Amino acid sequence: MLSKSELRDLLNRAPKFEDMTSSLRAWARQPGAISREAEKVVAIARKFNEEVTRVHDLKLDARIQQDPEHLPWEIVEEANMRGFYTMFIPRVFGGKGYSLSCAGLFLEEIASACLATANIIGVHYLGFTILTASWNIKMIDRISREVAEGEKQGRPCLISLAITEPEAGTDAQNIELMDRGKLGCGAEKKNGGYLVNGTKIFISMGHVSTWHIVNAYTDLKKGSENTVVLAVKKGMPGFSTGGREHKMGQKGCPASELVFRDCMVPKEQVCFDSTDGQKQARGVKGTNAQMLAYIWGASRMGVASFGTGAARGAFETAREFAGRTEAGGKRLINQEWCQSMLAEMYKNAAASRALYMEATYANGLYGLWKYLNLKPVYYLNRILPSALFDAVGPWICRRRAVTRIARKVAFDRQTDAEIDRVDGWASLAKFAATDAGVKNCHMALEIMGQAGLRHDRGAEKMLRDAKLLQIYEGTNQINRINLFKRLVKPDDPEIEVFSQQAG
Ligand SMILES: Cc1cc2nc3c(=O)[nH]c(=O)nc-3n(C[C@H](O)[C@H](O)[C@H](O)COP(=O)(O)OP(=O)(O)OC[C@H]3O[C@@H](n4cnc5c(N)ncnc54)[C@H](O)[C@@H]3O)c2cc1C
Repeated sequence: MLSKSELRDLLNRAPKFEDMTSSLRAWARQPGAISREAEKVVAIARKFNEEVTRVHDLKLDARIQQDPEHLPWEIVEEANMRGFYTMFIPRVFGGKGYSLSCAGLFLEEIASACLATANIIGVHYLGFTILTASWNIKMIDRISREVAEGEKQGRPCLISLAITEPEAGTDAQNIELMDRGKLGCGAEKKNGGYLVNGTKIFISMGHVSTWHIVNAYTDLKKGSENTVVLAVKKGMPGFSTGGREHKMGQKGCPASELVFRDCMVPKEQVCFDSTDGQKQARGVKGTNAQMLAYIWGASRMGVASFGTGAARGAFETAREFAGRTEAGGKRLINQEWCQSMLAEMYKNAAASRALYMEATYANGLYGLWKYLNLKPVYYLNRILPSALFDAVGPWICRRRAVTRIARKVAFDRQTDAEIDRVDGWASLAKFAATDAGVKNCHMALEIMGQAGLRHDRGAEKMLRDAKLLQIYEGTNQINRINLFKRLVKPDDPEIEVFSQQAG
């Protein structure tokens, strides 16, 4: 028999046993009620798909093809009415408090019917993610409560994330590349806050969102140490939305330009800056890197669920077609080549689901929503009455000490190995599931022949929509390099990652 120390030693040797099995730990440590929540959110998404997504998806795509300026308000209002924009916001901030561990399953379900619709809902949580990653509890509470109020009033209040710039996509997303890139969105520190000048592009739902969480830089040549995370509200002087991208897919979800011309962001809307970074154990640059890892760890898991939805949607469409279409006097589904293709497509979807659930477990155990998944916190969040949260929540969240303690716990207690696991697994799931989504869309078109190419059959739209997944939240090439950096690279200081810039 092994002694306890022998056992620990054997399991901790590289590659660490846990690196590839977050789920094994999660079974024991996460609250059991999450699995019942998961079933509930999937059922809610299915009903939405039947009543809304499948009714609008092709019409919306065709409409925006003809009129690129059209905005998807009909879907946004419906989602708002059904409570989707507060669904995964903790109840202490006025939300419905469903576990973020179920968000991927909810989004996969909607993505299996329409990726643009999944993004119209999901990208709001990307905005919520960067807000949360700043651990500025006062701002999280203020904005979340506006989202909840917007739901009550029937006036949707959504959040976007704005990092990408005309000259900096990949570079603005990776701490190693930032200082060699061409950052252009500057923030000048003034007495009352920050004066912002610059442009952001490709910001999903920019024209529709009320709040934009924006990364700007007090030194454009050294962004890694001078990032400021700002909350900019629609209508603020000096801020406007510019053009809209005319893109190949996910047409229903606008990708917007955001323009800042002497936009003064008051200090109450500064979510995080270098002064905050200095107070953390990893220092300014290290905490900026950690914040990015928090964001990508959660958001790439979400994009992986989109990829899985695409893989499933393509599989379901192809199987349905094969079941009712004859070729050579025999139904396609009775032909072995087709059976083998359908089995391969099913495998692609199932394997992708397993991967993003691993990334979900990693987030729940070590990442952004670790503390919400601790059993006492989880059950208190479920059982305490909303009136109590509404009465005391804002008062507690306004205390500076709460943000200070949250940052100490979240930033300083997260170990480097935990960051590697969350961020590495999210990259792995993202590129594997989105590649599988695109692959299945190709296979569906092969099975369907000319019918697959027709807009009214949906399969060609799925392929156009799915392709975008391989580009956003970091291209799949970059996610492969990030996986290498986080989990594959041996412990050898001579091996460099992200040491060269492309082009
Ligand atoms: C539909 C859509 C929605 C989006 N929504 C948002 C949003 O809401 N908010 C937001 O901030 N951004 C958003 N984006 C931006 C998206 O995250 C970027 O497009 C993506 O990160 C890639 O950046 P880029 O397009 O500038 O490509 P580039 O960075 O220019 O990359 C071009 C190519 O070079 C490769 N490359 C770049 N640098 C390196 C390197 N150092 N080493 C090796 N290879 C490299 C890339 O892999 C790619 O193949 C969205 C994009 C799309 C398409």
